[in-house]
Amino acid sequence: MTIRKPRPASLQLLTAEAALRRISSSHPKYPFIELDLRKAKAGVKGEKSVAHFLSLINLTDKFVYHNLRLKRDDQHHFELDTLIISPHYLLIIEVKYFSGEWVELREYPNQLTQFTYEQTRRTYEDPILQVKEQRKNLANWLVRRNLPSLPIEYLVIMPNSSCELRFHENYKEYKRVIRLPSLEQNLISFDTFHKRSSGIPKSDINLLDERLLAEHCPPASHGITRYALQEDEIKKGIHCPQCRSIPMIRKKCTWHCPFCDYFSSAKIPGRETLMDYFLLVNDTINNRQVRDFCLVDTPRQARNLLRGLNLEYCGSTKGRVYLLRGLFDLYDLQSEKV
Ligand SMILES: [Zn+2]
Repeated sequence: MTIRKPRPASLQLLTAEAALRRISSSHPKYPFIELDLRKAKAGVKGEKSVAHFLSLINLTDKFVYHNLRLKRDDQHHFELDTLIISPHYLLIIEVKYFSGEWVELREYPNQLTQFTYEQTRRTYEDPILQVKEQRKNLANWLVRRNLPSLPIEYLVIMPNSSCELRFHENYKEYKRVIRLPSLEQNLISFDTFHKRSSGIPKSDINLLDERLLAEHCPPASHGITRYALQEDEIKKGIHCPQCRSIPMIRKKCTWHCPFCDYFSSAKIPGRETLMDYFLLVNDTINNRQVRDFCLVDTPRQARNLLRGLNLEYCGSTKGRVYLLRGLFDLYDLQSEKV
């Protein structure tokens, strides 16, 4: 099994963290963003465990893609938590991390009920409907591009084994809502079933792989759009890598945090603060915007802050804009706290 697209850092999680760090805790949106952060953490927990499990099982002739986001005909996007391609079939995996005492799936109407330890009930759409919608989207996407047609299988994985999984007696899709340890057995069953068909050659797999990777569009919704914030509600300044307070104060060639007394070299806090700018405001930044957002006085100081980050840029000296997405290339997934 080859991981062709590893799980990226969760921008939803990082954006919520950046927003909570940079707006006042009395802001009316604060509780909503806290809730968004909790949801993002649950999502990451589930996706992490599936990605880890798949990295351990040894099945040949398969490619794995995590968090693929592709465009539909109507210009909206659809996102696949995990896609596996093999010469005989494709498999979409939707990951749902529910906590609480139990969840129950029922078919009439299609819904999932969650019963929490606080004795409250919440109702959600049946995740099987979601994964079937993704199957339809993927099938259309393949047809539009004249890519090889293969059967598309689907599964929902509920990785939190401490939350009991219940099915109402009328629920027909119970075999497709599984726990993580049964994933390997399900893959073997799909392999056995689909190997009866002739499958597609390696060259077609490579073509499909190329198109999937080329057409993946990373999400670009910034915090100010996602949470409808005004730019002037965002706190400016370099944030402390140790205690996360804002702003640090420049002292000669270092930055000092007046809240926890931490001293840092110029490079590290600049990187993290520009990541916040990317998450909350925009994909690109120019020298004036660096001065404004990081509270540095001169164009030279702003250039020093950007130096060493090895960012791609476009434009000549005056109109130069730096592309901030590269900051996430070295992001350590292990540091995601969920
Ligand atoms: Zn500090």
